[in-house]
Amino acid sequence: MSTLDLIDVTKTYSIVTAIEPLSLKIGDGELVCLLGPSGSGKSTLLRIIGGFETPTAGKVLIDGVDVAFDPPEKRPTAMVFQSHALWQHMSVFENIAFGLKLRGFSKADIRRKVEAGLSLVGLQDYANRRPSQLSGGQRQRVAIARCVVLEPKILLMDEPFASLDQHLRDRLREEVRQIQKTLGITTVFVTHGQDEALSVADRIVVMSMGRIEQVGTPGEIYATPATPFVAGFIGDMNMVPVTVSNGFVDIGGISLPAPLPEGPATLAVRPEDIVLGKADTAAAANIIRIVNYGSFIKVTASLNGLQWKVQAPKTASIAEGATLSLSVVRYQIFRDDRVVFRSDDA
Ligand code: ADP
Repeated sequence: MSTLDLIDVTKTYSIVTAIEPLSLKIGDGELVCLLGPSGSGKSTLLRIIGGFETPTAGKVLIDGVDVAFDPPEKRPTAMVFQSHALWQHMSVFENIAFGLKLRGFSKADIRRKVEAGLSLVGLQDYANRRPSQLSGGQRQRVAIARCVVLEPKILLMDEPFASLDQHLRDRLREEVRQIQKTLGITTVFVTHGQDEALSVADRIVVMSMGRIEQVGTPGEIYATPATPFVAGFIGDMNMVPVTVSNGFVDIGGISLPAPLPEGPATLAVRPEDIVLGKADTAAAANIIRIVNYGSFIKVTASLNGLQWKVQAPKTASIAEGATLSLSVVRYQIFRDDRVVFRSDDA
């Protein structure tokens, strides 16, 4: 059983606040992604968990024990870094064995653990190679094995696949997910790639400017973003300034129910929640551009001077230059930095 409990963790560097006071609980065996743009505080938070930074205030509890001021080697954590940082003069076997030697395991135990680690990452036949004789993906597998053999309570990964090409990144991500599930190891994974987070995480922590914007499953984060930041950051979203009047917002001839106090707000609509049809009584939009993605098409439609991103099935008969009706089938409204209305809840 390995849980991580961050309580009021804060980090300031002289005048820069990297982490505003934040709290977060991570359950046993969970894979949690810290997701946010560059500078949002993801790495700082990960480094605080791993002991490479000390928090300015707050607690870092692992299985209830505060390790906030313990050095990395005294913590039950292991970190896979962005650049693999393998020892070039050692073989793959020696690289993986190194941490085990420091911990005083017998030769027989080390051999058994290293072999298990190699087989876990599919590198049984590479034990005697040097890192320079491996591909980037293989080197990163060695880095993962080197951490995993230490049987840490918490595995930390800092953009571990950032230096790899897209195809390899997708594959390694699946492999890591498989290993993580097999071992049931509690894992915190930093990424700035939303696809990476959405596809691999049990829960995503969306960060911006040192704060947690939202914590939720990939499905929750996508379907019910809590703030305009999350709505705009995860997936495509049409974000349109509107005015609530008499319980409705009007967008170029379309009135959408908005049972809210009068005043300005932001309407958020996913491209797949807009339907284009035969121009009839509904608002007529001009089709400006169509991009074919194979399994679907992305359409840019203009309605009363506003441009809308629309996702339509590949079978839709839509042509550039056409005039089509535009209807919004699902939407959310934000005000004062939080969601105030969801059409699904009405
Ligand atoms: P991310 O990982 O999301 O890109 P970081 O955690 O690296 O973000 O950085 C968060 C903020 O803290 C940034 O504004 C960054 O400039 C600042 N920061 C990070 N490390 C240091 C440092 N050692 N000294 C001063 N400021 C830092």
